Amino acid sequence: MFINNQFLGIEWHAWKVIGWAGNAVFFSRFVVQWLATEKRKRVVIPVSFWWLSLLGSLVLLVYGLFYLRDSVVIFAYAFTWIPYIRNIVIHYRNKAAQKQCGACHTNAMPHAEFCYKCGARLEPIPPAEISVR
Ligand SMILES: [Zn+2]
Repeated sequence: MFINNQFLGIEWHAWKVIGWAGNAVFFSRFVVQWLATEKRKRVVIPVSFWWLSLLGSLVLLVYGLFYLRDSVVIFAYAFTWIPYIRNIVIHYRNKAAQKQCGACHTNAMPHAEFCYKCGARLEPIPPAEISVR
C-alpha cells in the first residue's frame, strides 16, 4: 500500500494527517446537512453542521497557520468561526426557551400558542421567565 512513503499518491506525515482530518471533518458537515434535509424533505441545518464547521475550520486554520503558512488558506478560515459560534449560541438559547406540548411532548417555539403537531393549546410562559437577550 505504501510505496516510497506515499499512499494514494500523497506523502504522509503528522501535518498531512492533521490537514486531512480537518478536511474530513469539514466535508462531513455537508453529508450531515444533506441527510437531515433528505430525512425531513425540507432544507434543514442541524446544529451538528455548525459544530462540524467550527471544528473542521479550526483544524484547517491550524494547518494553514503552522504548516502551510499560506495567507490564502489562513484568510479562508480566519473568521469563519464567528458565524459558526453565533449560530451555535442562538441554537442553544432558542432550544432553552422552547415550550413543550403537554399532550404530545413536541417542542414548540417560545411564543407559540398552539402545538404545531397536535394542535393542543400551549401554556403561556410566565412573563418573569421570558428574558430578552
Ligand atoms: Zn402537541
